Amino acid sequence: MLDIRYIRDNETMLQHTADAKGIPLSVARLLELDERRRGLMQEIDRLRNHRNRASERIGKLMASRELDEAERLKAEVNWNNDMLTRLEEQQSEVETAYAELMKLVPNPVSLDTPEGRSDADNVEIRRVGEQPSFDFEPRDHVALGELLGLFDIPRGVKIAGARNYVLKGAGFRLHQAVQQLAMDVLEEAGFTPMDVPMLVREDALLVSGYFPLGREQTYALSDDNKYLVGTSEVSLAAYYGDEIVDVRQPIRLAAQSACFRREVGSQGRDVRGLYRVHQFSKVEQVVLCENDPELSERLLQEITGNAERILQLLELPYRVVSVCIGDMSQKNYKQYDIETWMPSREAFGETHSSSNVHDFQARRAGIRYRDADGKLQYCHMLNNTAIASPRILIPLLENHQREDGSVYIPEALRPYMQGRTELRAK
Ligand code: AMP
Repeated sequence: MLDIRYIRDNETMLQHTADAKGIPLSVARLLELDERRRGLMQEIDRLRNHRNRASERIGKLMASRELDEAERLKAEVNWNNDMLTRLEEQQSEVETAYAELMKLVPNPVSLDTPEGRSDADNVEIRRVGEQPSFDFEPRDHVALGELLGLFDIPRGVKIAGARNYVLKGAGFRLHQAVQQLAMDVLEEAGFTPMDVPMLVREDALLVSGYFPLGREQTYALSDDNKYLVGTSEVSLAAYYGDEIVDVRQPIRLAAQSACFRREVGSQGRDVRGLYRVHQFSKVEQVVLCENDPELSERLLQEITGNAERILQLLELPYRVVSVCIGDMSQKNYKQYDIETWMPSREAFGETHSSSNVHDFQARRAGIRYRDADGKLQYCHMLNNTAIASPRILIPLLENHQREDGSVYIPEALRPYMQGRTELRAK
């Protein structure tokens, strides 16, 4: 959690940030509770000391047979104890309310974060690659998938309900191939490939900053008090929880996992095809480094660059946008999204999200390192999608389609596709 002294010194800025990020928090109420709990702590300490001194004195009075005075003091201690019980009850209520509000305090955002309310206010930074211009009527990914036998959405829905799908044949291969390519690019860039739990404890979601606000988006297995992650960032961020790590060199972690999302609130949006589904796969990058804003900014550019490199290897046109405060989650200090061109939407669609969270997650998770003076500091942490599939199959199929419905396979993918250069209907 952010330091309460920092919160006290930055009340106005943090309230603005909470409002802009749409977080239901009154910083004034939090500070009021903090004062109240500190007042109660002092009063409880005073009464405990008084009780201890009085008990000692009662012992002495009993020994010297000063029984009247001992009785008077006993009555005073009883009153003192009643008062203590009441105050301790109040303290427990105030502490609970305080802890709940502390969990809602947002990370402040970088000075170069655009103001704005939604993704419509995100600011484009660069465009890379040529959008294809077709001299035929292009198919969308659903039509291409059906023609080429890549996936089966109706049977996915039959098995698992809306927003589900089955990948098969070359569709399965393509889904695996983009992830293997992404993992290879990351391993070459110094990342450790990992397979991490997808079923986690509540604490992992809390320390990674996904709870309490993301609770309604998360599938809960209440019989076991476990949750399905919406991203392996949760497990990677919690991986070094309560440890002292060596970040003289940044720690670069990459995990491939299934991701599960309830997608509450997206009713009616993106209902066609593979764009917004309840289960997908993702290769995720997470980096831990020293608490140095210049270093973590450089690493943000690095992990964004890794994702861009993968898109370039897939020969896909994309743009990078600077995400505005209103489109940022509680934990993010600075965020870029990468949007890839999707011909059927005649628009760029979000495929990657790259964030610097500064020390927000490390504070929650208790991840520290010793600086050059031997002092313990909280790490900075960053994360970014390397590839998320099947969403990335949308631009991959739609941008690389030909008039006859066949699809070109970019060279970098071919080693993972048994050497195939194209997908063609049988
Ligand atoms: P996020 O962790 O929300 O920043 O998402 C990272 C990436 O995962 C997005 O850019 C998408 O490519 C993908 N993604 C997120 N949610 C979904 C979903 N419901 N269905 C398919 N892909 C998704």
